[in-house]
Amino acid sequence: MSRALVLNASYEPLCVVPTRRALLLVLQAKAELLAGTGHVFHSARVSVDEPSVVRLAYFVRVPHQAHVALNRRAIFARDGHRCQYCGAQAENIDHVVPRSRGGTHSWENVVACCRRCNTRKEDRLLEEAGFRLSRQPRAPRSRLWLLAASGDVEDEWVPFVAPVLEQAVAV
Ligand SMILES: [Zn+2]
Repeated sequence: MSRALVLNASYEPLCVVPTRRALLLVLQAKAELLAGTGHVFHSARVSVDEPSVVRLAYFVRVPHQAHVALNRRAIFARDGHRCQYCGAQAENIDHVVPRSRGGTHSWENVVACCRRCNTRKEDRLLEEAGFRLSRQPRAPRSRLWLLAASGDVEDEWVPFVAPVLEQAVAV
């Protein structure tokens, strides 16, 4: 047993749960099975396809702006592990407006950065250092975006997760 993707009644990806939890949702008629893992779960009374993707029978209201935790892994995933100044392999996190200059530790002010650029930029503003961002940093729109961006997605999830990823990248 591994993990299953749970979709809202509207087909919007909601969360990832242990397969056992998804199986319970299906058995309790709280969700329908959309895609199986290819394995069959046998109990004393029933045999059910092991769920990989399920859709809730009821609509769950979620906050419009889903919150994605700001951490190193998430920033690297958002920025494709590339330095947002020169495109080299990123190794550090840089505050665009340095914290010593009043910059915040927020999605809009942190970028993945290579060691060389990080060292060259020092505690300077972009214009002072002659640096340019390859794109404006923004907060990811969906919690599932991080999962999709990190490549940690089962094959059966792709048709359901891909639209979310495209939407998140097209900012
Ligand atoms: Zn760089």
